[in-house]
Amino acid sequence: MSDKHAFDTAQIHAGANPDPATGARQIPIYQTTAYVFRDAEHAANLFNLAEVGNIYSRLTNPTVSALGERIAGLEGGMGAVCCSSGHAAQIMALFPLMGPGLNIVASTRLYGGTIQQFTNTIKKFGWSCTFVDFDDLDAIEAAVDDNTRAIFCESIANPGGYITDLDAVAKVADKVGLPVIVDNTTATPYLCRPIEHGATLVVHSTTKYLTGNGTVTGGCVVDSGQFDWGKSGKFPSLAGPEPAYHGLNFYEALGGMAFTFHSIAIGLRDLGMTMNPQGAHYTLMGIETLSLRMRKHVENAKSVATWLENDPRIDFVTYAGLESSPYYDRIPRICPEGAGALFTFAVKGGYDACVKLVDSLDLFSHVANLGDTRSLIIHSASTTHRQLTPEQQEAAGAAPNVVRVSIGTEDAGDIIADLDQALSKATA
Ligand SMILES: *Cc1c(COP(=O)(O)O)cnc(C)c1O
Repeated sequence: MSDKHAFDTAQIHAGANPDPATGARQIPIYQTTAYVFRDAEHAANLFNLAEVGNIYSRLTNPTVSALGERIAGLEGGMGAVCCSSGHAAQIMALFPLMGPGLNIVASTRLYGGTIQQFTNTIKKFGWSCTFVDFDDLDAIEAAVDDNTRAIFCESIANPGGYITDLDAVAKVADKVGLPVIVDNTTATPYLCRPIEHGATLVVHSTTKYLTGNGTVTGGCVVDSGQFDWGKSGKFPSLAGPEPAYHGLNFYEALGGMAFTFHSIAIGLRDLGMTMNPQGAHYTLMGIETLSLRMRKHVENAKSVATWLENDPRIDFVTYAGLESSPYYDRIPRICPEGAGALFTFAVKGGYDACVKLVDSLDLFSHVANLGDTRSLIIHSASTTHRQLTPEQQEAAGAAPNVVRVSIGTEDAGDIIADLDQALSKATA
């Protein structure tokens, strides 16, 4: 499904053929729950996966499918499944791989909500997660045991905008025969394409940069189609007779599309974390301008981070696009178009100064979100990372003296002026 066009072209055209029924150039919003079968045989074929088509919108919907195809095209994947949110996508990515008693190994540097989901909630399914520092490759390998089924990290990682060495992580995963799942939300496929660095699955919160303007929640799992699910015998749902689908061996029947079909035919069917066509429409509109926005996000983030780093009221800035960052050298290889627009900075005066800063900004919005055209700020320690222990906060890069910013596409001068006046109040 990889699109042969340049990125600026593919973000507009991938998955977007004129509507076969009406010729509509833009992808229609197929606002329907069900689809009429031609006859009883057609219905039976669809349910047997002998023919591909729409049955019911919990499983597939043409608008949602177009979005999946577009994201798969931009990521260079073979197939994709869209979900109701980024968190739903994470569960969908793990669902075919996991079972009671099995675990994943994940980076300590993740979106706060993901740390929460992996620490407590997945235990209710009998799954568990071991968190390690992904800059320590030996620690990743040491954390893997016989019950590990996946290795999980973010490409540009929360909250500091750290760059994960995806090639190195994939090498470890290869050695131990496990799939790598990369959350590419913060980078977007414009800045980073994890599959080119060995990722098996790519997950997205489409809520963020892909939609781009803070209007809808959504998620997506892209499958590279490259992983051999049969080799180790560790993935019986994908490469053995699957009782949840009358004993079908998805890998034998569908090869590189096994994960995608399993996720639709069983994941969406039984977990029901479906994206709705209206949501898919907003995200399709957003993606048409993804590269244009990301260029401006990156340019602004560089200006703002440079200004902050030179300001005496600031202790440090984590932006990987600054030469002072230990991750700076990874940019040309991992995210050649830039280090994104999400980072943290430490304010002299600690927790109290951070809270005062957040309350003193005018242009910035104080929200638990990122990847909006608007500049956003949050004090992670008192909000998204509040329920983590101080050690977890520190390991995640969300210590009490730092704030996280998502730099928008406004005028850089206006963004800096707002930070300047608020920092004066916060550190007075
Ligand atoms: C927001 C986010 C999520 C969760 O996505 P939702 O759409 O809010 O469910 C996961 N990972 C990252 C990196 C995110 O920024």
